[in-house]
Amino acid sequence: MVRASIKDALRYEHPLMQYTSFRVGGRADVFAEPSNILQLQEVLRYGKDEGLDISVLGKGCNTLISDRGVRGLVVRLSGGFFNRVERRGPGIVVSGGGASLPRLVRRAARWGLEGLEPLVGVPGSLGGAVAMNAGGKYGAVGSHVRSVTAIGYDGELHYYEKDGIDFGYRSSSLSNLIILEVELELKRGDRGAISRRMSGIFQEKNMTQPLASKSAGCVFKNPKGLSAGALIDKVGLKSARVGDAVVSCKHANFIVNVGSATASQILELIYRIKDEVKKQFGLMLDTEIKVW
Ligand SMILES: Cc1cc2nc3c(=O)[nH]c(=O)nc-3n(C[C@H](O)[C@H](O)[C@H](O)COP(=O)(O)OP(=O)(O)OC[C@H]3O[C@@H](n4cnc5c(N)ncnc54)[C@H](O)[C@@H]3O)c2cc1C
Repeated sequence: MVRASIKDALRYEHPLMQYTSFRVGGRADVFAEPSNILQLQEVLRYGKDEGLDISVLGKGCNTLISDRGVRGLVVRLSGGFFNRVERRGPGIVVSGGGASLPRLVRRAARWGLEGLEPLVGVPGSLGGAVAMNAGGKYGAVGSHVRSVTAIGYDGELHYYEKDGIDFGYRSSSLSNLIILEVELELKRGDRGAISRRMSGIFQEKNMTQPLASKSAGCVFKNPKGLSAGALIDKVGLKSARVGDAVVSCKHANFIVNVGSATASQILELIYRIKDEVKKQFGLMLDTEIKVW
């Protein structure tokens, strides 16, 4: 039975395409956007009582959702509590798991706090960024995390100091949890210098990546010491196309949706790339994006 307190937070057979940067994907059996922790706990209890599989979606910038949709309950943090970005103390920023990462990066720069500049141009939520340890060649978010408050799918709250969290290359030990709040530790710096560094990194990305296209960023992780994009280029798949899913000619590790691509078309291109790289280089590329 659905309690009155979460009735408005639940949607049935809800389309998910609008919540992903690829703009593809089917419907969730049940979709919930709780706006505070109590409501989230109620939603999780409902999911458990109904025996539903639970998944958490951030801003969908690193996720490919199947055309057949997602079975079970998809939770997306929204609303003031999960979106807030606050400065506490000289170098501490506390932010909700659903907060926009670009907004947080801009705020920190405006406050004269340095460390997040490598994340300029990375879309998504802070929760998604911490779960994925988002970053690039100049650094990743994990090195600035001081603590994380998260909730298990069973509704239990957890608190981790940085030493209790493992961050890897585009991964963290926080999977199967919903990140509610992150405390970041940043250094005080010169506002002008931070802003110049951010502009430099953004310009570099903008010149080499199709930032304005519908994509989910890099599709594959770089194999140790190698560039996945360069390998894809070498096997001749730059600009390869399946329907409206195209390997970007600007950066071969991006697949872009140039019109109305489907998840199946994107997946077909992913398999083609994996096959060709395996055939020509004997390497199995590992997907960075999450496929649901
Ligand atoms: C144009 C473009 C450029 C990009 N450039 C970069 C880049 O330079 N570096 C980089 O690392 N990434 C990059 N990305 C990928 C993406 O922006 C990041 O991975 C981002 O951190 C994903 O955040 P999200 O909220 O969209 O996550 P989603 O795609 O919604 O989710 C990703 C994963 O995180 C989990 N997750 C989401 N929210 C939470 C939460 N609150 N608690 C626990 N788990 C959660 C999901 O379950 C899923 O497994 C780029 C993407 C695009 C479209």
